Amino acid sequence: MGDLIVQARQLVTGVADRHTPIVIDDGAVLSRDGVVVATGTLDEMLKLSPAATVKKYPRHAMLPGFVNAHHHVGITPLQHGSPDHPLELWFASRIPARRIDLYLDTLYSAFEMIASGITTVQHIHGWMPGGYAAIHGAATKVLTGYRSIGMRASYCYAVREQNRLVYEADEDFCARLPSELGAKLGAYLKSQAMPFSEFMTLFDQLVAENDGQKLTKIQLAPANLHWVSDDGLLAMQEKSAAAKVPMHMHLLETAFQKEYAYRRTGKTAVRHLYDLGLLGPHMTLGHGVWLNAEDIDIAADTGTCICHNCSSNFRLRSGLAPLNVWEKKGINVGMGLDEAGINEDRDMLQELKLALRVHRTPGLDDDVPTPTQIFRMASEGGAKTTAFGSSIGRLDPGRFFDAVLIDIDKAFYPYQDPDIPMLDALVQRAHARHVDAVYVDGEVVYADGKFTKIDRDAVLAEIHDLLAKPRTPEEIERRELGHAVFPHVKAFYEGYIRDEPRKPFYEASSSV
Ligand SMILES: [Zn+2]
Repeated sequence: MGDLIVQARQLVTGVADRHTPIVIDDGAVLSRDGVVVATGTLDEMLKLSPAATVKKYPRHAMLPGFVNAHHHVGITPLQHGSPDHPLELWFASRIPARRIDLYLDTLYSAFEMIASGITTVQHIHGWMPGGYAAIHGAATKVLTGYRSIGMRASYCYAVREQNRLVYEADEDFCARLPSELGAKLGAYLKSQAMPFSEFMTLFDQLVAENDGQKLTKIQLAPANLHWVSDDGLLAMQEKSAAAKVPMHMHLLETAFQKEYAYRRTGKTAVRHLYDLGLLGPHMTLGHGVWLNAEDIDIAADTGTCICHNCSSNFRLRSGLAPLNVWEKKGINVGMGLDEAGINEDRDMLQELKLALRVHRTPGLDDDVPTPTQIFRMASEGGAKTTAFGSSIGRLDPGRFFDAVLIDIDKAFYPYQDPDIPMLDALVQRAHARHVDAVYVDGEVVYADGKFTKIDRDAVLAEIHDLLAKPRTPEEIERRELGHAVFPHVKAFYEGYIRDEPRKPFYEASSSV
């Protein structure tokens, strides 16, 4: 690959602080072999590399590609027939989901992500039946999907050892169901089980197979506190340190999970992880809605990251994460679209607007998110939570040249007063339809509405044709199982949370 210079009307290389983006007017990036060599004016870049190919985007802002720091699936749960239930019920409602080829499924959401400027995804692979060979095959399809479309992916297979459906041992829950249903559910849950040591073997094998790949990296994911034993958590911490890879762990997504942690450990989930030695900059807590004030201090003091999944928290009634408190304490926060955003797609430009607006609490203080802060979460903040760390997230020398070009003439048409800084206006006014080009690793993967490596229409047609077929007998049986189990899951959580007064971080309204 020869040298490449890409110039835009305004280049944003990164963020200095939550009010201050670093912007170069008529800025250009010189890249070589997919890595940023220098940034500056076009003349400065041409002096460094007179023979470079030059690509100009005179109507555009160039930003570091966005990072979706928490992602699971292509075809969404809603598409699969599961409406937005509270998280604990939603797991049961997802049992009937159709089987789909994971290569196609991965491409499906990659189309949406790239088209909204996302260049890197943290793919947290959920559960699969069939044991080691099936799971390894599925992981390979996901990784192949990202490499084929040219997207960067930090991949992990979520480790689940126990409590697969509710916050209780599988056998105990199944034993309380009518016997035939309990047996069916028991067999279904067992089909997803894998010995802990095989999760670690899977990690080792994927790391070895991924050797030499530029676009994909492998990391670790203890799925959530209730899903992993303390022995498992300690072993994963050891693995993470030895392999020097980060971990992403769902934590305290709901009030039920907060209660589960108290019941299991007698303390908060964060205090428990801290006592086990799992916290630090290598650990990202997914959601973190129900951290209390002390938990937030622990996260801040240990440098633990949090991933804010704003849309998901609304959709699954998880609550309102105290983002403004996290920011005040200096916690590194990424942004995740989880299964799907507020508009039922994977659109980071939409998510930026939602996260910006959700936390605008009453008052006059400067403690609500700024557009620059939200942009930082979706770029450098998210980058730090992935296995790519400081090699992405900004357009600085030495980092990969992953960038999005947004047509600001179109986004701001017919008028935008220049008193509003460009990035502020962009975060609030640009949409996926204004994304004209996306570069990953110095290569154009998306331009003028088309993917350069994969035919989107052909993939969508293939997915359509596959799912147009009638349900298989196995899928019919699983659909019946999901419907039969649902009311029992609901009953399990009746009265689960102790009746204690709560004091929210945010005062959003008042009854007295
Ligand atoms: Zn998740």
